[in-house]
Amino acid sequence: MILVSACLAGIKCRYDGTAKPSPRVLELIKKGQAVPVCPEQLGGLPTPRDPAEQLHGLILTKQGKDVTLQFKKGAEEGLKVAQQFNCTRAILKSKSPSCGCGLVYDGTFSGRLVKRDGVFAALLKKEGVEVESV
Ligand code: SF4
Repeated sequence: MILVSACLAGIKCRYDGTAKPSPRVLELIKKGQAVPVCPEQLGGLPTPRDPAEQLHGLILTKQGKDVTLQFKKGAEEGLKVAQQFNCTRAILKSKSPSCGCGLVYDGTFSGRLVKRDGVFAALLKKEGVEVESV
């Protein structure tokens, strides 16, 4: 089984209440080969929610609220799902402060990117899951 970002599977869980369906991920779901997870929802954040970005090791919303704990909790819960389904691979949504792999927004809400992993992607990598970004 492959762990996938729930928004790539067509679930409307993004901060603005939309999905970002990926034909490849939808095909995997149809074949029963993928498990969708949204770590931000698993961390207890509502949908829609204020956009958030990483800054100095914290996750802050555009309004300045610290949601680092919710992001960490969501990543841990998402990891439990990966372990329950024996997922050794993950396909995650690019640039997200949770799911982004290799590149995320820089914390200034200006659209600039920095080389870094999202909170969930980083935890999965640390636990040996092979992560790719779409
Ligand atoms: Fe998609 Fe991940 Fe953001 Fe959830 S946290 S909306 S799964 S990118």
